[in-house]
Amino acid sequence: MDLGIKGKTALVCAASKGLGRGCAEALAEAGVNLVINARGAEALEGTAAHIRATYGVNVTTVAADITTDEGRAAVLAKADGADILVTNAGGPPPGVWSDWSRDDFIKALDGNMLAPIALMQALLPGMIARNWGRVVNITSGSVKAPIPQLGLSNAARTGLTGFVAGTARQVAPHGVTINNLLPGIHDTDRATSLDTGVAEAQGIDMDAARKQREATIPARRYGTPAEFGAACAFLCSDKAGFIVGQNLLLDGGAINATI
Ligand code: NAP
Repeated sequence: MDLGIKGKTALVCAASKGLGRGCAEALAEAGVNLVINARGAEALEGTAAHIRATYGVNVTTVAADITTDEGRAAVLAKADGADILVTNAGGPPPGVWSDWSRDDFIKALDGNMLAPIALMQALLPGMIARNWGRVVNITSGSVKAPIPQLGLSNAARTGLTGFVAGTARQVAPHGVTINNLLPGIHDTDRATSLDTGVAEAQGIDMDAARKQREATIPARRYGTPAEFGAACAFLCSDKAGFIVGQNLLLDGGAINATI
């Protein structure tokens, strides 16, 4: 399918690895020029070189922490006029409800709620002026069904979800859509780190920890960054202009809900 976005420009945050990279690659495959970001320059440059060589699109890199004001300023200096925004950042650490201080909550809110909101506030006016724009926020299945050990994620991402629900309806008259993609377990470094937590807590090896988590998913496997990226590219496509303010769960059926 021609997604109708060839030649557009996308800012994809936290995109040197994992789900962000999956989104960047799928957009590049659709002919979209990219600004990609991550903190570590080496992996970021490696990803950019791969995307340029594979898809022939322009890729600009900005090594910066997207959760800080300075990092966002550096990224936005290169992404001014972007037609597409994919927000993403690392997830907060696991723990239990009694572990976290106010500072821990502020850090989670900065990373997983306020950073994406600041990026939208920066880029939405240009999209509105051009009468076309797409925003996809990478959130988590935890906004539909809380994950007990990820209370910081449950809290911060639900705040972002509320902001998007209201804002998506305000920008839709201008040809701009905002939607959220909710990953369940995907095969990335983040999943490995959560597997490690399970292995350590239960005194089992990594393979057993993974098998145990796979067994909780009706698809009986982890999702892939490529599958996730394909969904992102469709939401960013010209075909998806009537999809507004939605929360699309990609979890292999793990959350047992009718809707
Ligand atoms: P990942 O494989 O660990 O990749 C994270 C990417 O983000 C890397 O490129 C990393 O590069 C970059 N990054 C992290 N913090 C950043 C920051 N502050 N500023 C800029 N770049 C940053 O993670 P993932 O699995 O793709 O997860 C992406 C998001 O989805 C996370 O918020 C995660 O919590 C959420 N999620 C993932 C899953 C899953 O199963 N994978 C499930 C639910 C939710 P640098 O480290 O070099 O910055």
